[in-house]
Amino acid sequence: LKPTVIIIGRPNVGKSTLFNRLVGKKLALVDDQPGVTRDRRMGDAELAGMEFTVVDTAGWEDDDKDSLPGRMRAQTEVSLEGADAALFVIDARAGITPLDEEIARWLRTVEVPVVLVANKAEGKAGDAGLLESYALGLGDPAPVSAEHGEGIADLFEGLWPHI
Ligand code: GDP
Ligand code: MG
Repeated sequence: LKPTVIIIGRPNVGKSTLFNRLVGKKLALVDDQPGVTRDRRMGDAELAGMEFTVVDTAGWEDDDKDSLPGRMRAQTEVSLEGADAALFVIDARAGITPLDEEIARWLRTVEVPVVLVANKAEGKAGDAGLLESYALGLGDPAPVSAEHGEGIADLFEGLWPHI
């Protein structure tokens, strides 16, 4: 059985773009509008010869941006239960939001290993957000650009001990 890696994060941080990047195909719908990932999507990924299943989540996307609704959280909790690792994605350009902090607070209580991924880190626009994300208490962030395919080695460095 392949290890399972679940992608978590608030809307619009680039979860589906990262999913597509890892899977190498356009399986997840990417859109400027939050809320386009209506269901969980799974795909096969391979990095440095390690194969794993990657899961893109709808997570909190259908709900009020400022709250952490129980129903969606419960759904993600169920997905997380069977996972070997979670990729928690933040938007380095937008910086850390209250919802990021709320998700991080919850992720610090789960047993599944969490790899913090600071997406949209291409160029300098993500530098401040990347630094801010250390304060989430989830270890060193891996700076990546899912869109440009940068930083996947950093992401893998965080991920490989768990898969
Ligand atoms: P999701 O809601 O978390 O699944 O986010 P999406 O993958 O749908 O992406 C949301 C928006 O962020 C889209 O406009 C993407 O093109 C954009 N995006 C995703 N990854 C990157 C990145 O690495 N850099 C930049 N600048 N934009 C990105
Ligand atoms: Mg999505």
